[in-house]
Amino acid sequence: IWDYLKEQFQTQFTRIGYQTWIDSAKPLSLTANTLTIEVPSQLHKEYWEKNILTKIVENLYAHFGVEVNPVLTVAGTGADTPQEPAAPTKTKRSNQVSEAEERDFLTNSHLNSKYTFETFVTGTGNQMAHAAALVVSEEPGVLYNPLFLYGGVGLGKTHLMQAIGHQLLSNKPDTKVKYVTSETFTNDLVNSIQTNTQERFRREYRSVDLLMVDDVQFFADKEATQEEFFHTFNDLYEDKKQIVLTSDRLPNEIPKLQDRLVSRFKWGLSVDITPPDLETRIAILRNKADAENLDIPDDTLSYIAGQIDSNVRELEGALIRVQAYATMKHAPIATSLAADALKSLKLNDATNGLSIVKIQETVAKYYHITVSEIKGKKRIKNIVVPRQIAMYLARELTDASLPKIGIEFGGKDHTTVIHAHEKISQSITDDQDLKNNVAELKNLLKR
Ligand code: ADP
Ligand code: MG
Repeated sequence: IWDYLKEQFQTQFTRIGYQTWIDSAKPLSLTANTLTIEVPSQLHKEYWEKNILTKIVENLYAHFGVEVNPVLTVAGTGADTPQEPAAPTKTKRSNQVSEAEERDFLTNSHLNSKYTFETFVTGTGNQMAHAAALVVSEEPGVLYNPLFLYGGVGLGKTHLMQAIGHQLLSNKPDTKVKYVTSETFTNDLVNSIQTNTQERFRREYRSVDLLMVDDVQFFADKEATQEEFFHTFNDLYEDKKQIVLTSDRLPNEIPKLQDRLVSRFKWGLSVDITPPDLETRIAILRNKADAENLDIPDDTLSYIAGQIDSNVRELEGALIRVQAYATMKHAPIATSLAADALKSLKLNDATNGLSIVKIQETVAKYYHITVSEIKGKKRIKNIVVPRQIAMYLARELTDASLPKIGIEFGGKDHTTVIHAHEKISQSITDDQDLKNNVAELKNLLKR
């Protein structure tokens, strides 16, 4: 019966719609006339109740002549319950945007063509956010307004947000879609004030059907921006235009965000995106590898996915790294090669966490002098050389800027650091002893 239903739905949904709503559901049991179906989140449940359940009942009755009573359960717990916003009063506003400007909007929605629903892999962690995004793209301004996506860096917030824009534009090509980062919004505002074109700024931002503002945590502390965005928000909201926002945290956790914005941001639906589990990470890598026409065995993909568990951006970075490594070595991509490629990545990581203090201590100990001598000004050879080596290592092994290194070495000028770095780089090419010492120090520091 489930297979029959799935087949029916296949023709009624778009491919993405089918994957989102039908593929993610599981039939649990059919006892007497009750069909129990498990769906991934509260949001899926509501969608099913609204759009799918009656279809099932009608369909089964028409086809099998039985009355089936479907019951939905939500898998796991902890799903946010969506709240419907209070019905806003609709105020009609005259639309004065010229045709040229309208065309400008279409070509100027600033969307990355790669960030679509087609290329977005769903799994635990992003399933509910993905479903909410899809609903919003199909019926903007109706159910979840604003949609507030939040979560750590590199987990797909920007991708998902832009997917809404793409989807809406492909469903209704004449809608006006605008994507901006919160910094762009601020810059546009500042520019408009400086050039006395605030009228135009407002028209641009308030005449769209979908406004997406990425990383609104950067509104923190920006009073004028918040003031302007408050009015933009109200205008769009009253006109039932869709607003989508992202942030690295919940609205009420954004420091110095006006209460009235916090409360508005919570009017619609806030959904978090959490890091993908191993299975999802493998699926993301597989997708990416296929998109780039890379021939990578499954066990290698699993290996990479097992090594990188922080975020999707790093996962993609690891894949690119493995690919580059394979090209360099003229070897096919396999697990052992991936291990080599990622080992150096880890080493880099380890040294990035290295502090200048640690370098000074290690070098001082190695040459039997003190840290204050390293940081001091004495110009005797058995101190100057270790000092220059320590500076050289600080430059090579940390991300610290030249001025920062200078400061850490007792407040020296950055040109001193440059000089030390050049001196040592030069010397190790013809002084084998020095070269060995530096290599030994590097090893000590990497431990
Ligand atoms: P955020 O905005 O949360 O920091 P991004 O949307 O910029 O993260 O995502 C970082 C990278 O990871 C992008 O290249 C994006 O395409 C990719 N990515 C993130 N999540 C997914 C996913 N579920 N499926 C496919 N690619 C993803
Ligand atoms: Mg982002």
